[in-house]
Amino acid sequence: MDLGLQSRVALVAASSQGIGLATAEALAAEGCRIAMCARNQSSLTAAADKIKKRYNAEVLAEICDVTDAAAVEHFVAAVAGRFGGVDICVTNAGGPPAKGFLSTTPDDWRRAIEANFLSAVHFARQVIPHMQRKRWGRIITITSLTTKQPVADLVLSNAVRTAVVGLVKSLANEFGKDGILVNNVGPGFTATERLRELAKSRSVASGKTEQEIFDGWAADAPLKRLGEPREIADAIVWLASERASYVTGQTLLVDGGMYKGL
Ligand code: NAD
Repeated sequence: MDLGLQSRVALVAASSQGIGLATAEALAAEGCRIAMCARNQSSLTAAADKIKKRYNAEVLAEICDVTDAAAVEHFVAAVAGRFGGVDICVTNAGGPPAKGFLSTTPDDWRRAIEANFLSAVHFARQVIPHMQRKRWGRIITITSLTTKQPVADLVLSNAVRTAVVGLVKSLANEFGKDGILVNNVGPGFTATERLRELAKSRSVASGKTEQEIFDGWAADAPLKRLGEPREIADAIVWLASERASYVTGQTLLVDGGMYKGL
């Protein structure tokens, strides 16, 4: 299948590790020019060097805190300056801490809204004018299974991520006329650093070993295993491609069947 992604400019936010990094790699493998960002210079540089070498890809990597609107504006301007625009924008950020509702603080809520909702707003505001000029664009938000089914102890994610779905649907409605397709990808339990942190906090809270926690998550999914970052990335690549040209405003769960609804 020809995905038609050769030379497209793909910006992947928060991409020094985990699902963001796997997405940047998968888009580079399809011939995209890649823009990456994260907050830590050394891990970002290592990730960018790996992609340049392995895929012989053009990569721009810049420090950017995705919760900082001015930093996002600066980063997107740098990407457009280097590559002449932005065709594909994948929004991403670290996930909020695992907590029950009564343990959350006003600061936790503010941080979750900034990282997991407003970061998508900041990127959309900056990339849409570039996409309108070309009359072609793809915005793909990385959220979570929690957009469809709340997960215990993840009340911050359960509540805040649904706002992203409202944003995605609104942007899809408003900018479809400009050739901009906007979709959301919700990973299930996926083997990354984020999941190791969650397993640690669940282990402390429950007295179970971390391995027991991982085994429980795997057992809950019909596919009986965790997801790999590359499996989430492949769904994002498809949504970014010409082959998904009549798909917009949707949430695609990549969760091994974990979501129990119809
Ligand atoms: P991760 O913690 O392994 O990686 C997060 C990346 O985001 C890192 O590169 C980190 O440097 C970067 N980052 C974090 N905050 C940032 C900020 N403010 N500015 C710039 N960069 C920032 O996480 P992951 O497992 O790859 O998850 C990615 C997203 O998917 C998260 O929102 C997570 O909650 C969500 N998710 C993950 C899983 C899973 O099982 N791994 C499941 C559902 C949803």
